[in-house]
Amino acid sequence: VNSKRELDLKGFINFEKKFMKSMSIVVIVISLLGIIINSFLGFSTALILAPLASLLIFIGIYFWTVKGENLTGLKITISILSFLFNNLFWYYNYGSHGPAPYLFVVTYSLLIFIWRDRQLYIVTAALLINICILFYLDYMNPNIILDYDNDQGRIVDSYTAAIMYGAFIFVLVKLAKDYLQREYLKAIESDQLKSSFLENMSHEIRTPLNAIVGFSGMIAESELHPAQKVDFKNIIDKNNELLLRLIDDILDMSKIESNTFTIKNKMCEINPFLEVIKNTFEQQIADSKKNLSFKMILPNESYSSEMDSTRVSQVLTNLIDNAIKFTESGLILVSVSYQKKYFKFIVQDTGIGIKEDEKDKIFDRFYKGKGNNNQLYRGTGIGLYLSSKIVELLGGRIWVDSKEGMGSTFSFTIPSVNTEVLIPETPKIESPRIIVEPAKEIDNRSKILIVEDDDSNLKLLETLLESWGYRYLSALTGEEALEIYNQHQDIKLVLLDLNLPGIHGYEVFKRLREQNPDLTILAQTANAMKEDEIKCTELGFNSFLRKPIESEFLRLHLRHKLRSK
Ligand code: ADP
Repeated sequence: VNSKRELDLKGFINFEKKFMKSMSIVVIVISLLGIIINSFLGFSTALILAPLASLLIFIGIYFWTVKGENLTGLKITISILSFLFNNLFWYYNYGSHGPAPYLFVVTYSLLIFIWRDRQLYIVTAALLINICILFYLDYMNPNIILDYDNDQGRIVDSYTAAIMYGAFIFVLVKLAKDYLQREYLKAIESDQLKSSFLENMSHEIRTPLNAIVGFSGMIAESELHPAQKVDFKNIIDKNNELLLRLIDDILDMSKIESNTFTIKNKMCEINPFLEVIKNTFEQQIADSKKNLSFKMILPNESYSSEMDSTRVSQVLTNLIDNAIKFTESGLILVSVSYQKKYFKFIVQDTGIGIKEDEKDKIFDRFYKGKGNNNQLYRGTGIGLYLSSKIVELLGGRIWVDSKEGMGSTFSFTIPSVNTEVLIPETPKIESPRIIVEPAKEIDNRSKILIVEDDDSNLKLLETLLESWGYRYLSALTGEEALEIYNQHQDIKLVLLDLNLPGIHGYEVFKRLREQNPDLTILAQTANAMKEDEIKCTELGFNSFLRKPIESEFLRLHLRHKLRSK
């Protein structure tokens, strides 16, 4: 609860920090003026040394705020110093005869901006006690304080102080007000965007869902031609994928907002993961009805580098998706290059382009552009927000160059860490599309163990495996799975659900691997978090399948995994 409150207060803390920074600058300027004026008026050395001391101290405080560490310590220091200076000033500047009481009012008003909640009341009480003591001293023993040599000096001193403090208050309160006004407008705008996001969300979910429900109904009709069924199934799959991506994006966004989004850098080869993206989009563009061509230029050499390739792919895919969405005809050109300190990714399209005044808004959360007749484009408006945050977390930069009607160029950089050139003979990664074998070669001697606690999902897997001619065994829990494996050591492959009742999938994995380090184990889960995928890769699962599992994908996957045995 505390950290949530701290999170909510983040804007406020920023404000307090900014305020202390502005305040120290103003105090520095005023101290400087004080030194000059007091020297001109020929006041005592103490009255010149005091502003000098405050000048030096507030220079220190300025750098403290810039560093931004231990804000509470900073606040306490500022408050104690202001007490100290006020009292010294009161003593040396002739108590209630001089402008000291004005200074108290100024100090009080400023401390309100620094402290909040209960602490503010404590500080206020302390100030009140302080001023009562001074009042008592001044009233009971007027002689302990010196008096001005002449009245003119007193008059000049009082009025210059009034002007100076007035200016001081004006500058600081104005800065604070402007800041709060800006924040207020930002909050209103973000609230509006959020409402339109929620309205829009229902649309973005219902559209694909409608297709899925509609076409599933039709497939059940027996009069359909088999070719039609395949068509409908493809439509359902596409919509499924849209929905899953939407959910992924929303999860990622909420993780970014709650600071729990994780980046996992590790050594990876650059070209293979780019090639996966290249193949996917070449296929997608070939299948689309648009008159588009797609070209991807990969780095000249094959590099390995320390980066989070999953996240980089996510950003790149997102930008290419947008390019396709906003381009009716022409070319989409993607290029990736290595430039010593960083990798640079460019996605260029010949689409509708972006209006000048929208360029800095498109990266905002929920922002969506409008078409010519003021119609909002389809989408949720989180794609670019997410991309920009991910690039920022990866330590890079993202920007756009575009002219309305002339296409757009999105670029981003990712810092290069431990980059090395690889020897050219790196094997190409296998994409499932390549491994096609005649159906009769199915290895039906291979025994597969399905571990799945959900009845309908288990039924689905059993039906699929049976129709492909595999022998299989089923377990509903991890314990059962281990027992079955003990009795059937000829099991070649395990399809392991991760969220099992009792012992977790990860534990089952570990124990199975202990028994047989060569056993092929595929994770299958409805938990779409990328962290799970990363964890599975780290643990050494042979593959990671997200539910709903595409049956053709599973078939090719099984065939490939069992063939390579
Ligand atoms: P969404 O997730 O809905 O696609 P984005 O955050 O990705 O939203 O994009 C926000 C807006 O940026 C889009 O509505 C569109 O106006 C503009 N935009 C993004 N990419 C392009 C592009 N390649 N060409 C033209 N406009 C674009």
